[in-house]
Amino acid sequence: MAKVTTEVTEDGACQSSSDEVLPTNASDRTEPAKVPTEEERILGALTKAWFAGIDLFFGRVNSRTLLNKTMPSDNMPSISTGVRAISLPVMEAFYTIQGEGYHQGRAAYFIRLGGCDVGCVWCDVKGSWDAGAHPEISVEDIVAGALRHPGRLAVITGGEPLMHDCTALTNQLKKAGFSTNIETSGAYPVSGSWDWICLSPKKFKAPLPGILPLANELKVVIYNKSDFQWAEQWAAQVTPQCRLFLQPEWSRSATVTPLIIEYIKDNPKWEFSLQLHKYINVP
Ligand code: SF4
Repeated sequence: MAKVTTEVTEDGACQSSSDEVLPTNASDRTEPAKVPTEEERILGALTKAWFAGIDLFFGRVNSRTLLNKTMPSDNMPSISTGVRAISLPVMEAFYTIQGEGYHQGRAAYFIRLGGCDVGCVWCDVKGSWDAGAHPEISVEDIVAGALRHPGRLAVITGGEPLMHDCTALTNQLKKAGFSTNIETSGAYPVSGSWDWICLSPKKFKAPLPGILPLANELKVVIYNKSDFQWAEQWAAQVTPQCRLFLQPEWSRSATVTPLIIEYIKDNPKWEFSLQLHKYINVP
């Protein structure tokens, strides 16, 4: 006669075992299956309930501990524990002279984030389009790179930087003493904490309405005559305080620059944005 023992497993189930080698096919059994006694059933149920209580208690403790590690509270630094590093794809970062728009001529640290699906035919940074082609760099390292230079103006550009959540990057830059400027097509929702938003709308993917009241600067690239009308369409939707710039598309500069000059003389609310950096040969 086979010896049958009953054990209670960790999940509370009763498990019977035998010192007899059981046949692999149930039809080969020569003895009826063991039916648990009433005592064993009660013991199993009580044990299962006890283990369920233990799981519930430790599960809650573990969840809370995990949340405390990964979800910093308001009075904690947003990035400090290193438990979950926040990183962004960076195509390039460099210290130079801002060549365009309202802040033209100022020393600035440019951070060019990878990723753009706007698809401007005349884009001069097509290498930025594929975010996956650029290394993911932690926000701490990006800010550390900026801090190596004396200027405290950071310009986040792309690509289309608002394809990414810029909250952590701008928070850390501000904590380090930087003014945060962005150059964006406005095709994605605004994230981040900005001192200056330069909206440069593109016909290939129009801006979202939410950025219009936030724009400090509207910069429209003029490629052909019809772009003046496009520029006016957006100028009518930004705030009265928003600075308005027209900028020749670089490859069409010889053709459109005279048109822009005349247009600004007739419409003095606009200012001329020259790509100064291309004339003084800096990035
Ligand atoms: Fe290039 Fe900027 Fe247009 Fe994107 S939005 S395609 S990066 S010019």
